[in-house]
Amino acid sequence: MFESVIAGSLPKPSWLAETQKLWPQWQQQGEALLQAKKDATLLWIKLQEDAGLDIIGDGEQARQHFVHGFLEQVEGIDFENKVTMGIRNGRYDAQVPQVVAPLKLKGRVHALEAQLLRAHTKKKIKFTLPGPLTIVDTVADRFYGSKVAMAMAFAELLNQEALALQADGVDIIQFDEPAFNVYLQDAATWGIDALERAARGLTCTTAVHICYGYGIQANLDWKQTLGHEWRQYEAVFPALAKSSIQQVSLECYHSHVPPRLMALLEGKDVMVGVIDVASDVVETPEQVAETIGKALQFVPKQRLFPCTNCGMAPMSREIAQAKLKALADGAALARTRYA
Ligand code: ZN
Repeated sequence: MFESVIAGSLPKPSWLAETQKLWPQWQQQGEALLQAKKDATLLWIKLQEDAGLDIIGDGEQARQHFVHGFLEQVEGIDFENKVTMGIRNGRYDAQVPQVVAPLKLKGRVHALEAQLLRAHTKKKIKFTLPGPLTIVDTVADRFYGSKVAMAMAFAELLNQEALALQADGVDIIQFDEPAFNVYLQDAATWGIDALERAARGLTCTTAVHICYGYGIQANLDWKQTLGHEWRQYEAVFPALAKSSIQQVSLECYHSHVPPRLMALLEGKDVMVGVIDVASDVVETPEQVAETIGKALQFVPKQRLFPCTNCGMAPMSREIAQAKLKALADGAALARTRYA
């Protein structure tokens, strides 16, 4: 009960990449970069286990960014000529590559990290991939001319990689869809269709993570405009409840999401965000257990997985490490309290 897990990303060590950045530059090249990616992945497997987490991830140490890390292994994308594009409905500008030809995988995308993860922990492992709608919102289209057509093309590629990750021994494959909270209509219709296409044929557990983004300034400013109740989930959860996706990762602690919206996910496992990634204040186990207690009003205890609100990539390594410990300790406390 209350198996603890992180949303996905963790800070990169300073010898791997620039720290506290969303699109950091690598500090190494060639073979040395490959070795540094492996070492950082191993480091975070160890630190997640030491903290006491029940489900372990790769911490996304081998990808520069959660979307572009996947795109780098796709043919038909021009990475040489990036353009500035307003993403997440213009919330902030990003330098994005352009889709210029039919999309095709160059080969495996994440075999290195997934196989390393499987070889170095006996615990259950979760692996994250960007979701189709969020990819479409983080790349410029010069070829497909239709968001839906391009999302479905990406869904095919994600499906190929997801099936390969499953064969590597991954227990849970999670698609990250922060853009679901921005394009509510698209998410509830073709966004979920594309997600199910990406998950087709998987027999491992499938999940989707929907959030209000990393703790970067543009996101903090955006949250100020959302009013005292954040009801974006209300538009998407009913359709998601009817889908074949089995788990949903959502924000809870310190967000203005009404906890009762979790009740819309009947029949799904819920990864409840009990750790705030937009604050450097480390939660106490007591606070974590309290958040779990609140969520239990709306989520059955056998379906509740304490999690972080979002990824921790832009945070300091020390704080992320302390928050992992608070997450595991809080889950343990909740087990004694609510068993
Ligand atoms: Zn997130």
